[in-house]
Amino acid sequence: MISIQTKRYSFNLKKNFPFEFKTLTQQFFRVKLYSSMATFNRTTLEEVLKKRFFYTPSFQIYGAVAGFYDYGPPGCALQANIIDLWRRHFILEEDMLEMDGSIMTPAEVLKTSGHVDKFTDWMVKDSLKTSDIYRADHLIKQELETRLEGDKQARAKLDGNVQSEKSKKKNDKSQMVKLEDSVKAEYEDIITRISNYNGVEIGEVIRKYNIKSPETGNDLTEPEEFNLMFESSIGPTGHQKGYLRPETAQGQFLNFKRFLEFNNDKMPFASASIGRSFRNEISPRSGLIRVREFTMAEIEHYVDPNNKTHSRFNEVKDIKLRLVPRSVQSEGKMDPIEMAIGEAVEKKIVDNETLGYFLARTYLFLTKLGIKPDRLRFRQHMPNEMAHYACDCWDADIHNSYGWIECVGCADRSAYDLTVHSNRTKEKLVVRENLAEPMIYDKTVLEINKKVFGPKLRQNSKTVEDYLTSLNEEQLEALKKALEDGNGTTKVPGTDGNQYEITSEYLTIKRQTFTEHVREYTPNVIEPSFGIGRILYSLIEHVYWTRKDDEQRSVLSFPPRVAPFKCLLVPLSNNPAFTDLVDELAKRIRKLSIAIKVDDSSNSIGRRYARNDELGTPFAITIDFQSVNDRTITLRERDSTKQIRENIDTILQVLKDLLEESTTWEKVMETYPTFTQQELD
Ligand code: AMP
Repeated sequence: MISIQTKRYSFNLKKNFPFEFKTLTQQFFRVKLYSSMATFNRTTLEEVLKKRFFYTPSFQIYGAVAGFYDYGPPGCALQANIIDLWRRHFILEEDMLEMDGSIMTPAEVLKTSGHVDKFTDWMVKDSLKTSDIYRADHLIKQELETRLEGDKQARAKLDGNVQSEKSKKKNDKSQMVKLEDSVKAEYEDIITRISNYNGVEIGEVIRKYNIKSPETGNDLTEPEEFNLMFESSIGPTGHQKGYLRPETAQGQFLNFKRFLEFNNDKMPFASASIGRSFRNEISPRSGLIRVREFTMAEIEHYVDPNNKTHSRFNEVKDIKLRLVPRSVQSEGKMDPIEMAIGEAVEKKIVDNETLGYFLARTYLFLTKLGIKPDRLRFRQHMPNEMAHYACDCWDADIHNSYGWIECVGCADRSAYDLTVHSNRTKEKLVVRENLAEPMIYDKTVLEINKKVFGPKLRQNSKTVEDYLTSLNEEQLEALKKALEDGNGTTKVPGTDGNQYEITSEYLTIKRQTFTEHVREYTPNVIEPSFGIGRILYSLIEHVYWTRKDDEQRSVLSFPPRVAPFKCLLVPLSNNPAFTDLVDELAKRIRKLSIAIKVDDSSNSIGRRYARNDELGTPFAITIDFQSVNDRTITLRERDSTKQIRENIDTILQVLKDLLEESTTWEKVMETYPTFTQQELD
């Protein structure tokens, strides 16, 4: 799959898109935890989202292109509200330094970061119908899972627990074939490890297990590596290569020096960026879950590698998270352990306070949005899933009808990114810390005697000097000993690989005492990275339900703070008698900066309420004939459909208080009498 240098690595290995091909574990989870989901029907939800224009495939009248979506009015408003909450929760609350970087990125930057070479997935093609292209790991996983399902059914049949062909699910392509126990174990092992396989290993699996093109049954080609970045060129000459960025992070790293200056050289601090990223996924699917263009919100928190404590950790330490640590996964299980983040850090399950702090803050953000806590878990990466430089990595997985989906990746990326960019550009991306007490230490150092070294080694002096200056303290001590043992003479390699004789006249190796008043270090980076589209879709599923009395009446119970529209304003009918009052109220509500939707269409009031329930509008103000006479109006709450009737000023104040969260609907119901007369039609 992907080498260890890139962020994609950690992405790829996340059980490689668990949502795509549901594993048995996921199915189990679904049945066990989410019995309420038994009634969930994705097709019905999708119809609602389409009808209400939350989002739609882009370029649809041209036939659409997979992996691209346009958001309509409620989708846009919902996304803007999620981003607004994200900005408040992270950028404002944590005093982060926000930036908006360029999307088009010169190739050199992404070469240095490792993306040009390693941001890849393996693909295979149908050998005869080469337009059929598959992401190799997904295809293998799907095929082996289908075979395991067939085996399960065959075993059930043998046990007398027969499932008829008719009762099979629509998409179940499995054939009832019992597998040898050893083969079954091999399949299970491959499924868990396939995301780590390289091209050769993937090719071997395809041949050994006779995996064919799913549509035609033809042979598959050998796996080829496919880079996921969209390539372009900058300027008219076409000579400068560029890519659409696959993440916002690199732009932030490149501005590290400016951020540090802006922050008055104070550490630790975080930068943050919200924007579009592009990944040319081999086979995008699952709606908004895997697309080719998506909005990311990323934080890069810079810390001292010797001190990863967090000054506000105390505020979150008691928050309980559902953790799936490595120890659980290595037993082949995915059952979460509920544990306070303070305890998890203390027990070293989570590597450090800063990482723990962000996991807890991520939990608070997601649940504030309306994500259900029992459908949220934090899964730790297995050691072989992480980039070699990363010291710990956790995903926030949200459960939806596609399975457990990684929606936020939270990684401790050590000093990798700043180091590689600094090495490449020679720009120092470091922190200089004035020490209260000078640091005094001894160090083995090398001094080259230029008078002898150059003249003796002549044209070879550079290659030998480069080698010698690359030696660390331990290697210098070893060289000193070799010179002593060789009576002042020894051989060393040059950087060209040849051996050269040197003598103790050429150089001196000695212990020297240093006093430093400034400590210079490359900070480590802890990166929480949020995919807004995945969160948005999961949220929609979590708040979606249908009214008991009428399955056709769908409701999206968005918390008011993220609901696309906050209040519906409806006259009882389109009778002109209501026009003036509707206009007056609309003006007053807009003045309060409340997003309203006026619906004065000729539909029955019940239909108009239902339409806004589908949009997730939490409140509705209704104007009827009585309103025109006595200036009282009703306020309806979406989920309970209960109403109160009061004068305009009171209702507007209650609405404002509800939206500002200084009261709740329950309290409102306790304070004002319920109004029952109106929903007649
Ligand atoms: P990564 O940098 O790969 O860890 O991705 C960070 C986040 O971006 C993930 O947690 C997802 O929420 C989101 N993401 C990554 N790839 C996609 C995609 N193809 N479509 C939608 N969201 C994505």
